[in-house]
Amino acid sequence: MEIGALDELRTWRNARQGSVALVPTMGALHSGHRALMDKARESADFVVVSLFVNPLQFGAGEDYAHYPRPFDDDIALCESAGVDFVFAPTEAQMYPSMPEVRVSAGRMGAVFEGASRPGHFDGVLTVVAKLFSLVDPNVAVFGLKDIQQFCLVRRMIGDLNFTIDLIGLPVVRDADGLAMSSRNVYLSNEERRAALAIPEALKAATDRKADLWDPSSPGQRGAANLPAAIEQAARDVLDRAVAAGDLELDYLTLVDAETLLPCREGHRGSALLLVSANVGRTRLIDNVPMEF
Ligand code: AMP
Repeated sequence: MEIGALDELRTWRNARQGSVALVPTMGALHSGHRALMDKARESADFVVVSLFVNPLQFGAGEDYAHYPRPFDDDIALCESAGVDFVFAPTEAQMYPSMPEVRVSAGRMGAVFEGASRPGHFDGVLTVVAKLFSLVDPNVAVFGLKDIQQFCLVRRMIGDLNFTIDLIGLPVVRDADGLAMSSRNVYLSNEERRAALAIPEALKAATDRKADLWDPSSPGQRGAANLPAAIEQAARDVLDRAVAAGDLELDYLTLVDAETLLPCREGHRGSALLLVSANVGRTRLIDNVPMEF
């Protein structure tokens, strides 16, 4: 395995004939990242993992300075996953000056995470576009945990004509149901228990959907407004957690999986229940897919 920044990457890439899969990360790697690497391994001849905490996607007052950077552990995990090249530039190497020209995430980048974190997705898409240019991958593997990010990267690949196959992998969870995240290390034991209301809420919604939705005769057992009833099942769980002072809810919405527009009564096709909540000072996001 090689480790390097821009020059080393260019030399390495120019010498490679086969296909390349890229796994972009900000480091602090866990089993969710490992699943992406395993998928990358089976999808291409060579695997590149990027480790870069991208300052462009952090707002003022967010955790850029404190974001965990356990570099040696990350390298060990990449090595054990059979990664071929770890691209680990410094901030100065990646941004010799702050870019004047950036990718704009548009309407889909201004809602949900984008509404609470203005400019976040412009920063994400700008760095992803840079990574695509630098690595020139055939395949890119992202997690569906950051589902809005995934939808926007998919949109960018189409809108800007990148010739890259995008693969999305389901959310990897800890045994207690909490979605794995590099930010989970911020949680105290008590906060971690409180955070479990998030996966519990998603499960309540999935259960409600199973009760109300009969795929063989859609809508027959349905409530008057199925999307609202499903959302309410999750909201009941989260409202209790909010009332107990365990978390602050930012958003909880059932949306169309392509457009991220809220599902209306009679929705058909793929949907996502999106949730974000703050537990103490830690922002957590999660989601679950549903088919109608
Ligand atoms: P990050 O390092 O948090 O920016 O994440 C890098 C990639 O790993 C993104 O594509 C994330 O969606 C993905 N990822 C992070 N956590 C998980 C998880 N629990 N399950 C699946 N993918 C994940």
